[in-house]
Amino acid sequence: MGDRLRNCCLGIDALCADGVVALLARSPFYESAPVDYLDQDWFINAALKIRTALSPLDLLHRLQAVQAAAGRKPGGVRFGPRPLDLDILLYADLVMDTPVLTIPHPRMHKRRFVLQPMCDIEPLAMHPVLGRNVQSLLNQLSAEAQALRPFPCDC
Ligand code: AMP
Repeated sequence: MGDRLRNCCLGIDALCADGVVALLARSPFYESAPVDYLDQDWFINAALKIRTALSPLDLLHRLQAVQAAAGRKPGGVRFGPRPLDLDILLYADLVMDTPVLTIPHPRMHKRRFVLQPMCDIEPLAMHPVLGRNVQSLLNQLSAEAQALRPFPCDC
């Protein structure tokens, strides 16, 4: 919602502001058609590669704090519009499934707007449950599904 690209760029800056999370790579930005809940604007997406000593749960809490600072309120329509959404896709080769956190992200392997930017920065990153790299997961998506187009950014 709002100035979508600005929200993303400010969110990345906030995530990495104090050095606890180090940004190693950022994909290009893409604009993607909504999935699941279709009656809304297109989304802006990117993938980040980071290094951090935070545990997965502490990292999730940090992501949620950055989302809140961007104006995200609890509740709202699932998969609906929001100012900023930060998810953990992979955490090295960790596999975990708890009520608050599932890694790898449970829908990452189905979504072009996730897999394309991941491939831009780390095509050989392995999905530790499916045993396939993200390039292979992207290749298996049907060609027509999930429109995605580059979104220029100079930040
Ligand atoms: P979202 O709507 O994407 O912000 O996700 C809502 C909830 O998903 C969060 O409050 C998390 O507790 C939960 N969740 C489970 N797995 C993940 C993950 N890998 N990354 C981010 N959130 C997750």
